[in-house]
Amino acid sequence: MKKAAAKKQASPIDARPFTYRNRTLHCDSVSLAALAAEYATPLYVYSAQQIAYRFQLFQQAFASRPHTVCYAVKANSSLAILRLLGKQGAGFDIVSGGELERVRKAHKPALKKVVFSGVGKQAWEIDAALKAGILQFNVESEMELDLLAARAESLGIRARFALRVNPDVFAETHPYISTGLSEHKFGIDIKAARAIYRRAAKSKWLEPYGVSVHIGSQIRKVDPFAAALERVTALVAQLRRDGHDIRAIDAGGGLGIDYSDAPFDAAHQVERYAAALAKGLADEKAHLLLEPGRFLVAQAGALLTRVLVVKKNGRKTFVITDAAMNDLIRPALYHAHHEIVPVRQSSGKSITADIVGPVCESGDFFARDRAIAAVKPGDLVALLDAGAYGMSLSSNYNSRPRPAEVLVEGTKAKLIRRRETVRDQLAPELL
Ligand SMILES: *Cc1c(COP(=O)(O)O)cnc(C)c1O
Repeated sequence: MKKAAAKKQASPIDARPFTYRNRTLHCDSVSLAALAAEYATPLYVYSAQQIAYRFQLFQQAFASRPHTVCYAVKANSSLAILRLLGKQGAGFDIVSGGELERVRKAHKPALKKVVFSGVGKQAWEIDAALKAGILQFNVESEMELDLLAARAESLGIRARFALRVNPDVFAETHPYISTGLSEHKFGIDIKAARAIYRRAAKSKWLEPYGVSVHIGSQIRKVDPFAAALERVTALVAQLRRDGHDIRAIDAGGGLGIDYSDAPFDAAHQVERYAAALAKGLADEKAHLLLEPGRFLVAQAGALLTRVLVVKKNGRKTFVITDAAMNDLIRPALYHAHHEIVPVRQSSGKSITADIVGPVCESGDFFARDRAIAAVKPGDLVALLDAGAYGMSLSSNYNSRPRPAEVLVEGTKAKLIRRRETVRDQLAPELL
C-alpha cells in the first residue's frame, strides 16, 4: 500500500502542477513569468491537465458502481473549466439560475446531468431548470417542495426531486463551511423526511427520485462522510418500504485538500473517500451522485501577483501586492492558508512579513507573519491552491477590476477570461 502510494506520487501528473524549472515557477510547461509578461497581473492560472486528472481519479475510484460526478460549479464557474469537465463526462451541481446558464453555454448536453442545490430557489430559476430537463432538484424545505410542485404543474413538466436531509453529523472544518448539523440552515431534519416524501408522492408533478446530503466543505477526515451516508442509506431503505422508487443517492461534496506545502497524494485521498462512502452505502445499489468542487480545481490553480511595495511599520514588514482580498477572499473570510512562493527562485534569504493587498481594510491580507523569500517591488509571487473559491468569490470592491484567467493546456496557455476594465464595471450604472 505504502509503496503503491509512493509510486503514484512519482507520476508526473500526480505532482502539483506548479513546479520550478530553471528556477522559474511553471504551470505544467508554461512559465509564470512569461504569462505575467503577456497577460499582466493579478492573473489566475489553471492547469487543464490537473483538473482532468482529478476528475478521472473520481471516475476510477467509483468505477465499480453506477455514478455521476456532478462538479460543484460554485467552486470555479469559469466557462472554459465547465466545458473541460463537461467534455470529460461530468454532470454539474448548481445553486442558481446563473449557474444553470453557465452549464448551458459551456456544455449543453450536460444539462440532463445537473442537480440543483440551494436553500432559496426562486420561481424563475426553477422554471428554467425544469425546461432544461435537469436530473434532480435537491429540495431543502417543504415550502420549496410546494413551489416546485406548483411550477411543475404550470409548465406541465414533472420534477424529479431529492430531499436534502440534514444528518446531524459533525464535520470537522471551519464553522462557516460546515453545514451538516441541525443548527445550520441547510437541509431538512432527517427524521421529518419520511412524512414529507409521503406527502409529496401524492402530487403527480413530483417524482421522489433521490435523497441527498452535503455536510460541509474542506473536510479532511473521511469518517463523517461514512456516518452521514449510513443514515441516508437507512432512510432510502425505509422510503422503498414506503413504496417510493428511490433511484439516486447524492453524497454531496466537501472532500478537502491540503493547503500546506506537504506532499499530497490526491489518488489516495479519493480512494479513502470512496471506501468511506462504500461503507456508508453497504449493499445499497442506487445511482450515486457526487458533488466535488474544491477537490477538482483548488490545486490546479494559482493566483499570480506582482509586488508593488515593501514597507516597514515599526518592527513589521509588509509586502503589498497588486492582488487583494477582492481577488482572493479566502484568507480574510476563513483565515485560510495559501502557500506564497516567488516566481523566480532566489538564493536563500528569507524575510518574515505580512503579505497584503492595496484594499482599504485591515482584513485585506493573504498571510500574516509569514516567512517568505525576500522580495522587492516588481517581483512576482504566486498564491498556490487558489483554483477553488478564488475567482468565483471575487468582487469589484474598491472598484478594482477583477483578474484575467488563463488555462494552461500542456505547453500552451489560453486566455479564458480577459481582464475587466473600469468601463465594464461602470456599464450597468445609471445616472
Ligand atoms: C459547496 C457545495 C458543494 C461543493 O463543496 P466542495 O467543498 O467544494 O467540494 C457540493 N454540494 C453542495 C450542496 C454545496 O453547497
